[in-house]
Amino acid sequence: MENLRELDKRHFIHPTSSIQQQQENGPKVIMEKGEGIYLYDKSDNAYIDAMSSLWNVNIGHGRVELADAAAEQMKKLAFSSAFSTFSHEPAIKLAEKIASISPANLNAVFFTSGGSEANDSAIKLVRHYWKIQGQPERQTIISLKRGYHGVAAASTSATGIPQFWGMAGHMMTGFTHAETPYGSSTDSAIASLRETIETEGAENVAAFLVEPVQGAGGVLIPPKDYLEKVRQVCDAYGILLIADEIITGFGRTGKMFAVENYGVQPDLLTFAKGVTSGYIPLGGVLVSDPIHEVLKEMSEGTLFHGFTYSGHPTAAAVALKNIEILEQEGLVENSREMGEALLQGFQNIKEKLNIVGNVRTMGLLGAVELVRNPGTNERFTSDQKVAPKVIDALHQRGVICRPVTYDNTDIICFAPPIIINKVQINTLVDKLYDAIHAVEKELGQ
Ligand code: PLP
Repeated sequence: MENLRELDKRHFIHPTSSIQQQQENGPKVIMEKGEGIYLYDKSDNAYIDAMSSLWNVNIGHGRVELADAAAEQMKKLAFSSAFSTFSHEPAIKLAEKIASISPANLNAVFFTSGGSEANDSAIKLVRHYWKIQGQPERQTIISLKRGYHGVAAASTSATGIPQFWGMAGHMMTGFTHAETPYGSSTDSAIASLRETIETEGAENVAAFLVEPVQGAGGVLIPPKDYLEKVRQVCDAYGILLIADEIITGFGRTGKMFAVENYGVQPDLLTFAKGVTSGYIPLGGVLVSDPIHEVLKEMSEGTLFHGFTYSGHPTAAAVALKNIEILEQEGLVENSREMGEALLQGFQNIKEKLNIVGNVRTMGLLGAVELVRNPGTNERFTSDQKVAPKVIDALHQRGVICRPVTYDNTDIICFAPPIIINKVQINTLVDKLYDAIHAVEKELGQ
């Protein structure tokens, strides 16, 4: 094990990490196996994976059916191109399946290997769409502050967390950000969207890209009427609406797709993560029938956009099996019911403890905010590192969660596998209570 640690320090550049800390300390945990909602490290310590790893292992760990689906497909046809006039059965069947379970008019799919590629593809597709329509000046992508859309060139720029732009030196041109409906009303967030459109000039705006629930921003669930009003604004200005469902898709929010919670039809929808429950990389963009029709009429004839692994047959076979399990085991329904149980647990904790502010869930996407004074919502200072301390306390109790401390917030995020049951929810809530209680004592609150 020490040897692995040393090799990691020497050779492995970890994503989203402090490379310096990594060099000094090496990895905190080296995972060995997973089963259900649990991960086990090399010393066989068990952890509740309360984040489904990176919001993606929706059906939980260790499902042999997915391994079998991959093995069968690999033995038959591990890979073959889907470029141009070539095709294969797994990708065809998956495209049809995703079209059938997604909102009504989204019926055509462009596949990628992950979420960042999906958002970059969506952005290129909408710009291309406007060009074909004779409006090439429609380039601007509006997204939300605190939004996260990935780390490829365009998706980094669409991301509304400025730290991410630094890595590229700057944001690409053609991107701007409106206010997020967090701690404010629908009306003020909608006013900000309108103002952003007016400032850019509606004739220059290609699309508004939005997560139905912001994940990395801190599980920010917008007011019920926000997305509906967004749709109205987009329609009024003739702007396309792209829903980033990379976290929220495939049952995470108690519906197959989160836009169903709001009764809103986007023009494009990006997905990744839960489509394969993370067992193999896959993502994509769903486009509406009218957009598909326009793309068919492309003036240049060829879509000069495609990845080697667009529609990878093995990934598609795994996704098909994953969706079959979601449906057969009623996991979307379970996500809704267990999300309510989790919320109840959060509310009980809030009543008993002194530093718990807003608590929320939508399906099994949830958050607990920690504040100095729940009455006034006064926050802690960032140097108190309250959320990281709670995350450490949870880790010691065998729970893996994620803090969001951006912009001086202390948010603990939850996205457990959607197979979780009531007993496991209670265990998770008990451990959360203990962890926050321990930190409260340390803070003298
Ligand atoms: N969009 C959202 C909402 C995400 O949460 C993420 C990843 O966390 C992405 C896009 C990027 O996806 P990927 O990391 O697969 O490139």
